[in-house]
Amino acid sequence: VRKIGVLTSGGDAPGMNAAIRGVVRSALTEGLEVYGIYDGFLGLHQNRIERLNRTSVSDVINRGGTFLGSARFPEFADEKVREQAIQNLKMHGIDALVVIGGDGSFMGAKKLTEMGYPCIGLPGTIDNDVAGTDYTIGYMTALNTVIDAIDRLRDTSSSHQRISIVEVMGRHCGDLTLMASVAGGCEYIITPETGLDKDKLLSKIKEGIYKGKKHAIVAITELMTDVNELAKFIETETGRETRATILGHIQRGGQPGAFDRILASRMGAYAVDLLQQGEGGRCVGIQNDKMVHHDIIDAIENMKRPFRQDLYEVAEKLF
Ligand code: ATP
Repeated sequence: VRKIGVLTSGGDAPGMNAAIRGVVRSALTEGLEVYGIYDGFLGLHQNRIERLNRTSVSDVINRGGTFLGSARFPEFADEKVREQAIQNLKMHGIDALVVIGGDGSFMGAKKLTEMGYPCIGLPGTIDNDVAGTDYTIGYMTALNTVIDAIDRLRDTSSSHQRISIVEVMGRHCGDLTLMASVAGGCEYIITPETGLDKDKLLSKIKEGIYKGKKHAIVAITELMTDVNELAKFIETETGRETRATILGHIQRGGQPGAFDRILASRMGAYAVDLLQQGEGGRCVGIQNDKMVHHDIIDAIENMKRPFRQDLYEVAEKLF
């Protein structure tokens, strides 16, 4: 491998810049040439590719978002579109590609790998929904953002004895909701893994009111239900003012925290190590604080993320 490409894809996450920097700087140190591809697979298809040097990644380690840009480009599922992408890479003489993104982006990287073009996937998403890693780049920063929001809601909820429902991102993964609930002291946790039982929730809220709780914070993962409707239902049934707050894209922005900067830097350097060793079709992870890599196809098709039942049980005990 002499020349490598790097792109960010899917939803952006704090720490993606640090990951790009990790790839670029370590590749240059190893004497490789590095090319940045703008706006993910879209820019790859449109041949928007530029050579990067040390200063291309100056002053980005602390910045949220991704300076290369990211995009949703469903057309990449089409083989002809991918053939064009591979042709563009070959035209620049690029031998391998590092894809920073979530599981959707890994699907794109997997398909390129299956077509004989070696890719390394770095997990970059706030959802923490990628198999083969304990943490994804951006997750810890987003977690702190969610906790900050929950703290604020707690202040105003207790002043008004109000019930607050907080909708947290994560797509089909409840990690962000669960950890934020433990750290933010939420009374009720609803994740895709635990499911939503409205009657059970209601009776727990009533139990809390009976216990004399001044506030009730319900944390729920996005895409499970209409939270405004849920708020109306609880308000009608309890007689207590209930409001839903959808945290939305706030969770994706902001300066990456120390954990994500370090994770991204390690993963970026590790991706280059793997390419140097002739590895392709791998995805990088962190497990028990060690860098690991798995077959990207196996990770997507067969590996499952474990649900942290132990933390759920801790949260239940602290109700
Ligand atoms: P996040 O979950 O944080 O939003 P993600 O990487 O999962 O990140 P997606 O929108 O699912 O986000 O995927 C990003 C891009 O990866 C897609 O827009 C598309 O270009 C590519 N992609 C996704 N699925 C496939 C697929 N089956 N085949 C080829 N490319 C794909």
